[in-house]
Amino acid sequence: MPLKRSDQSGREVQKELSLLSPTEWNFLKIIHDEKISEIKPRITNYGFSYRHIIEGRGLDISDEELNSILKKYSVAGIFREKYYDSIIICPECNSALFDIRYHCEACGSTNISYGEALEHLTCGYVDFIKSFAEKDYICPKCGKRLRAIGVDYRKVGRVYRCTECGFSSTSIETRIYCARCGSRVDENPKILHGYSYVVSEEKLRKFLESRNIVMQVEDSLNRLALTYKMNYTIKGESGISHVWPFAIWIENLPSASPDLTIEILPVSNIEELTSMIMKTAIKKADTTVSNALLLTQVKPDKTTCKVGDSLNIEIKYIQHAQEIFNHISETVQRLKRSQ
Ligand SMILES: [Zn+2]
Ligand SMILES: [Zn+2]
Ligand SMILES: [Zn+2]
Repeated sequence: MPLKRSDQSGREVQKELSLLSPTEWNFLKIIHDEKISEIKPRITNYGFSYRHIIEGRGLDISDEELNSILKKYSVAGIFREKYYDSIIICPECNSALFDIRYHCEACGSTNISYGEALEHLTCGYVDFIKSFAEKDYICPKCGKRLRAIGVDYRKVGRVYRCTECGFSSTSIETRIYCARCGSRVDENPKILHGYSYVVSEEKLRKFLESRNIVMQVEDSLNRLALTYKMNYTIKGESGISHVWPFAIWIENLPSASPDLTIEILPVSNIEELTSMIMKTAIKKADTTVSNALLLTQVKPDKTTCKVGDSLNIEIKYIQHAQEIFNHISETVQRLKRSQ
């Protein structure tokens, strides 16, 4: 039975929970603590960069890493990708630094000058005023002296003139080359789309909080010297694979089904908590896990606790990090006594 798309992506986020690297954690913490609502790129010689966000914070992170973090947490719904701008980059080396060159429209030479020019009407020769002046106003083409403006010569304004072939024109062929590798860019431009990342403050906060609980749980299990596995997948009787953030073995070997599972509910209100409890109950029933401990940062009401009790799910409300160790320790002691 295939899982629904939303379930799969939800599981993906859950899975990523423990895979948060210190770099990711620090980066996300900066975004959260600085209350950055939108991560906008800056255009650099190599395209779009988000480095300025972490500048001067001692975070050793490459542009590629930063881009992949932004993409990853956009998929997880913490950021929303938004079109920002497009730039052209070199198709060969991805550089965004270019040289612009003028080429003669007639012969292709780059030996071009630009300036005020005159046309000798008698023969049609065009050259810069400066060049005519240097030759004492004797036309180099026909050898005749220029006499009166509007009669035998005229001003043609500013033109591009090729020194190689003499072609003059008010227009010019512009070619763009990569300043780094010299490739012609304008014939085969690569367009790079840049995105800004709109931060979902609430989702980011919940994510960091849950991650915090994950770290505390991990730390507690290590202190209690328990055998555990993170993101433990159990194939349910229905055929669906369920992931438990933590699976713990107190007496049995890790080959058997876990003695205890811990679920972390990073929710913000009681309605969400109730629905998460129901989901956990289904997961528990399907995987025949006997004991489940639920850690949540929302205070459960009496009804919720009753529901939990009847489903044999222990719901623990976490206000302070140190409570996590006590709750896990108590549950483990109780299970040891009953075994
Ligand atoms: Zn030319
Ligand atoms: Zn002439
Ligand atoms: Zn290049």
